[in-house]
Amino acid sequence: MIAQSLPESYPRDVEETISWLLRLERPPLPENPVEATRAGKPDKSPCFFDGEKLIPLKWKTYQEQMPSKEDIERWFRHPSNGIGTLGGFNGRHWLTWVDVDQKTFDSPEDCDRTIQEWLEKYPLAAQAPCFRTPGGGYRFLLAFESEPENFKANNGFCFDGGQHVGEFLCKNGSHTLLPPTKGVNGNCYQWLRWSEYPPILNKPEDVGIFPLPSAQKEANRKPQHTAKPNTQKTAKQQKPHTLIDFLIKEVYPKQTLEELFNWEGHNFQRDGEKVRGYCPWHKNQKSGTAFYAEMVDGVPLWRCPVCDGGSVLEYRHKRNGGKGSPKGRKFVEIVRGLAEEVGVPMPEDWHSSEKGSQSHHTKREKHPPADILAKEIAEEYRRELVYIDDSKQWMVYESDV
Ligand SMILES: [Zn+2]
Repeated sequence: MIAQSLPESYPRDVEETISWLLRLERPPLPENPVEATRAGKPDKSPCFFDGEKLIPLKWKTYQEQMPSKEDIERWFRHPSNGIGTLGGFNGRHWLTWVDVDQKTFDSPEDCDRTIQEWLEKYPLAAQAPCFRTPGGGYRFLLAFESEPENFKANNGFCFDGGQHVGEFLCKNGSHTLLPPTKGVNGNCYQWLRWSEYPPILNKPEDVGIFPLPSAQKEANRKPQHTAKPNTQKTAKQQKPHTLIDFLIKEVYPKQTLEELFNWEGHNFQRDGEKVRGYCPWHKNQKSGTAFYAEMVDGVPLWRCPVCDGGSVLEYRHKRNGGKGSPKGRKFVEIVRGLAEEVGVPMPEDWHSSEKGSQSHHTKREKHPPADILAKEIAEEYRRELVYIDDSKQWMVYESDV
């Protein structure tokens, strides 16, 4: 872990963090991962607990305007409420949260070593306010003179052309929780370094941050790979050639259901071959077992009677704010993420992602046990729901299951 080195003036509690954010001209937003999980709502979405119930926040408003003094008083009145904010333009600079996810590394030590080397190489990065997340990741705050252009389509970044390190949250509305908020696992977000204003840079490349090579570029490189004569292996011995085959043969067997379905709030219980737990997407979950997952023909599938279901690909896509099955670049990025979690390199000669996506669909449709079970469970859930759509706006609708 990076050594903690904090000035006397760092914000120690929610109140001091509110003051800092107001000076930084970024909105303080209430967060309460613990109560949100208890209420069956997404753990990392702005909301506040009023002592009796959890109230979700329509936070898009605060991309454009700061909350009023009255808003802030109401949101932070209950002592269990934590704090978060949005990245984006503060009238002077583009404030960007650099999210380093420990899970993209082989080990926590590997993550720490990579970060340490990055900070030693780029003294400006070492000046950035930095905190540790409850999951063991790191988040750094940087300010840019102009909007970082290269990261518009894809948030993933790497250091100096290396492996995927994390997400570069530069867009207006990029949301982050902040210290000292308590996470679902009981650990708090914790400052390691802090300064009143982040270091100001021209562009991310100045501190060795580069966009990931896009899936499209990799797809374009594919003909070079397939054109190579393969003299060493017969067809049967070749590596799997669709990404779905790759996942089934080389990725899924290396992960547990708990690792594949990796929302912090599931609180899974084993039920034979299945795991059951809280669903990330709907409210009013009394039993905490609406969401369930199991391996079917080597494919990790999930189902929630109110929120649909699918394989781990739809799950990851939905967790990223997507709908239905991930296609094209998004599909490839999810496969890449899963492969990186188990430290397996992507196959060099995979077929088109759309084809992979379709064959995956066939798998999903061959899943009667979950559907039958779903109908039984669905009877319990005829009520109003809250979910997050693509724009991450809270919406209310009537369940039609
Ligand atoms: Zn659900």
